[in-house]
Amino acid sequence: MKKIFIKNLSNKFPSKDITKEDIETKLFKICKKKIKKVIINNNICFDKKNIPIIAGPNGIESPELLEKIIIFLSKCNIKLIRCHTFKPLTFPYRSKDYCDTGLEGLTWIDDVKKRYKDIAVVAEITEIKFLDRLCQTADILQIGSRNMQNLELLAEVAKTKKPIILKRHFGASLRDWFGAAEHILAEGNENLILCERGVVAPHTHRITSRFMLDVQAIVAANELTSFPIISDPSHASFWAPWVEKLALSSVAAGCDGLIIETHPNPKKSKVDPLQALNFNQFKQLIKNVKKIAKAIERKII
Ligand code: PEP
Ligand code: MN
Repeated sequence: MKKIFIKNLSNKFPSKDITKEDIETKLFKICKKKIKKVIINNNICFDKKNIPIIAGPNGIESPELLEKIIIFLSKCNIKLIRCHTFKPLTFPYRSKDYCDTGLEGLTWIDDVKKRYKDIAVVAEITEIKFLDRLCQTADILQIGSRNMQNLELLAEVAKTKKPIILKRHFGASLRDWFGAAEHILAEGNENLILCERGVVAPHTHRITSRFMLDVQAIVAANELTSFPIISDPSHASFWAPWVEKLALSSVAAGCDGLIIETHPNPKKSKVDPLQALNFNQFKQLIKNVKKIAKAIERKII
């Protein structure tokens, strides 16, 4: 084949997703260099030393499940519990015996919090009309990937001054994700935790995976912001056997926390049964993730 030469076909000056101008004019709050810690209930600290684990089932299906999980996680010294009672799902259909447990589920959480006083609860907010009620129960409000650019929701949640986990949408650039974060910071709420949870990719080996954990985004985002960046390998892989390895790689890449889905009997999980770890797998993950954390002088809490 005849070689064709084109002048200036070089990428010596590749442009960036987030430019210097963006940092100065549009993303100046999220890109601030001052080290940001986010402290939950004066107790659990997301910073550059600690790596808190958030764990629990996909959704709070029943008071019995909740109690079982809290007893297990307390034994593992895990204090941040996934307690979602509102669940945005890709499709409108639910299994026959499951709906969001919603407001009723929140009363189950209130009840366990009276008995297990040092736990802190992460709950997803999907609609502004539930905000006041959720604030009574949740210690951290999660804004899910599908709502990353629900700007009205971002502003209202930010005004509560509660700690917020802002998940990255699976199709969002870092610039879009940071822009969404800036909407929270612009309301004066600096209790912000960013969460990488997988992006859409042309193929991810397993067709059920749907998403691919963007470990590189953890590294890149850390270069630009001092707010904590956590990783959710459960939602990224959608596949329990991969979760531990992805958690290890997230910690090695510099994440500041993990969200791990766990269920006493994953097969029976009403939502996403393929991604939850059983209790033995969860314990194994914690054991190994501690080794990586130690090697980079950080601490799993
Ligand atoms: C979840 O954490 O339960 C969830 C639905 O996550 P995502 O918004 O990342 O899909
Ligand atoms: Mn889910």
